[in-house]
Amino acid sequence: MPLYEYTCRGCGRRFEVLQRVGADARDVVCPGCGGHEVAKQHSTFASAVAGSSGSGPMPCGAPSASSCSSGGFS
Ligand SMILES: [Zn+2]
Repeated sequence: MPLYEYTCRGCGRRFEVLQRVGADARDVVCPGCGGHEVAKQHSTFASAVAGSSGSGPMPCGAPSASSCSSGGFS
């Protein structure tokens, strides 16, 4: 399972949660204050896993992320 990073809007605490792919923030409770107002952060780990699952080095097939930004997605 991927590890997601969240930030609590109530107390500002940052924490990580193991979730199934496709799970959303409604299932997450802040371990600091018990609040449900949490925001999912971008995870470099999750991005790396997603990128490595394709046939090429990047989802768009380009050799690097900078090449992807030049219209690689079609
Ligand atoms: Zn909190």
